[in-house]
Amino acid sequence: MIYRYKKKKKDKPLPLFDKAGVKIKKKPNLKAKLDKVFSMYIRMRDSKRFDFNQFCCISCGRILPFEQADCGHYINRQHMSTRFDETNCNAQCRHCNRFQEGNMQGYRRGLIQKYGERKILLLEMKKKSICKYSDFEYEQLIKYYSALIEQMKQERFEVIAEKDKITIGDDVFYLNDLKIID
Ligand SMILES: [Zn+2]
Repeated sequence: MIYRYKKKKKDKPLPLFDKAGVKIKKKPNLKAKLDKVFSMYIRMRDSKRFDFNQFCCISCGRILPFEQADCGHYINRQHMSTRFDETNCNAQCRHCNRFQEGNMQGYRRGLIQKYGERKILLLEMKKKSICKYSDFEYEQLIKYYSALIEQMKQERFEVIAEKDKITIGDDVFYLNDLKIID
């Protein structure tokens, strides 16, 4: 029988700030934050023409409820030059995005229909360029897309309010406000 003794791991040197006993707040992951904000922007953008209730999958063309939308990348997310490209990202159904490996043939067809072939050829070329964002650029993009989301949320609110509006004589009621309380 062979006995193996576990080698004692050497203690890793502590980062400078730990040595000094000073805690430094960890930087938020800006890339992950932008992914989240950008994804919401894309899904809301593509559901706008359905009053923010539904979306049309870029790959299979099915019209589904907003809650089932993914932000699907045509060129894989690992390519930073197109990761936050508005043409490269579109609302896609979960089935196409997660189980059909993006349903690429359908995706390309959908893209050409939506943007025209020229734009897609340019997008495919952009894939190869090298792109690295600075923290400042990340922060600016997060701010920009957050503002666009807020704007669309307001539009969505107005669409819903308009649908719920009932006018009786000179009075305006909103169905949403007329909740029955037991
Ligand atoms: Zn689909």
